[in-house]
Amino acid sequence: MNAPGSDESLPGPGPVDPAGAARVLRAARDVLVVGHVRPDADAAGSAIALATALRRAGVPVTVSFGGPEPVPVSLGALDPDGLVVPSSEAPAAPELLVSCDVSSAQRLGDLADRLDTAGSSLAIDHHASFTGFATRHLVDPAAPATVLLIRAVLTELGAELDPVLSRALFAGLYTDTGGFRWGGSDALRLGAELVDAGAEPRGLMRELTGTRPFGWLAAQAAVLAGARLEPSAAGGAGLVWAAVDVATATRFRDQTATVVGQLLATAGDGVAALLTETDQHMWSVSLRGNGSPDLSRVATALGGGGHAAAAGFERDGTREELLALLRAELDSASG
Ligand code: 5GP
Ligand code: MN
Repeated sequence: MNAPGSDESLPGPGPVDPAGAARVLRAARDVLVVGHVRPDADAAGSAIALATALRRAGVPVTVSFGGPEPVPVSLGALDPDGLVVPSSEAPAAPELLVSCDVSSAQRLGDLADRLDTAGSSLAIDHHASFTGFATRHLVDPAAPATVLLIRAVLTELGAELDPVLSRALFAGLYTDTGGFRWGGSDALRLGAELVDAGAEPRGLMRELTGTRPFGWLAAQAAVLAGARLEPSAAGGAGLVWAAVDVATATRFRDQTATVVGQLLATAGDGVAALLTETDQHMWSVSLRGNGSPDLSRVATALGGGGHAAAAGFERDGTREELLALLRAELDSASG
C-alpha cells in the first residue's frame, strides 16, 4: 500500500486506460484541468465534469482555458459551482495538468507553458490527430466525444452522476455527436443515463445555444448573404464558404459556431468552410463535410486538426490567401 501522493503505483508514461487515469488523478494533490482554446461544449463539459468529481473526492482542482478571455457566457450554465478561472489566475506550476479534448500543445493557447511547469500531464482526448504531447494519455479516436472517456474515468473514480455532472457531460455528448446523429447506440445509451441522472436536455440546450441577441439576426443574414458556392472545388464535390469580419466576430463571438452547419446543409456532398477573422488578418477556420475528403487531413496540413467530417485551423493572412491554401489542400485530399 502506497502513501497518498506516492507515485509508485502509478502507470508509466504513455497510453493509460480509464483505471490508470483514475489512479493518476486520485494521487494528485494540485490539479489544473484545461480544455482547448475557444472551448466548445465537449471541451468545457469534459473539464468541468472531471473537476467537479475530483473536488468532491477531495482533490484540489482548478479549471481554465487558454483564451480568448472571457470564455463564452453560455458555458456558465455548465459551471454552477464556479470552478472556471481566467487563465491569468490558473496555477503557474500545478502538480498535474489534465487536458480534455485537446489534440495538440498549441491548442492549449495561453496555458501551453504549463506543459513545462507542471509536474506531469495527462491528456484525455478523442482526436485522431492527437500528437502525444502529454506524459500520459487516454485517447480513443473511436469515441464520438471526449465526454465518453470522462464518463469512463468518473466510473473508475466512483463518482455518482448527479445533475451537475450529467448536464456537463450531456452538453458535450449532444454537441459532438451532432445531436446524436453519429456516435451510435453507445452515445444514445449514455444520453439516456445522463437524462435519468438529471440532465434536462431542453432547458440545458436552450441555455447553451437556444437564446441569442436580437442583433444576431441581421448579422447572420449579412454573413449568409456573403456565402459563395464553388462547384469545382474539392475535386468537384464543391465548397460553400462564408466569412465573418472582425467586427462581427468580436461582437457576436459566442454566436457564430452554428453558421458552418447552415453552410454545410447547402453543400450537397461537398465541404463547408466558415472563415472567422478573430483579429486583423488572423483567422479561425471551421470545416465541415461528410467524411470524404478527410478534413482532419486538410486541417492538419494547414496547421490545425480535428476529425474527418469536422476540423479546423487557425492561420494568419488575407482571406484570399487562406482560401487559396484551402482550395489546394481540398483538391489534394480529394485526389
Ligand atoms: P470547430 O469548427 O467546431 O471549432 O472544430 C471542429 C473540430 O476541429 C473540433 O474537433 C476541433 O477540436 C478541431 N479544431 C478546430 N480548430 C482547430 C485548430 O485550430 N487546431 C486543431 N488542432 N484542431 C481544431
Ligand atoms: Mn470533442
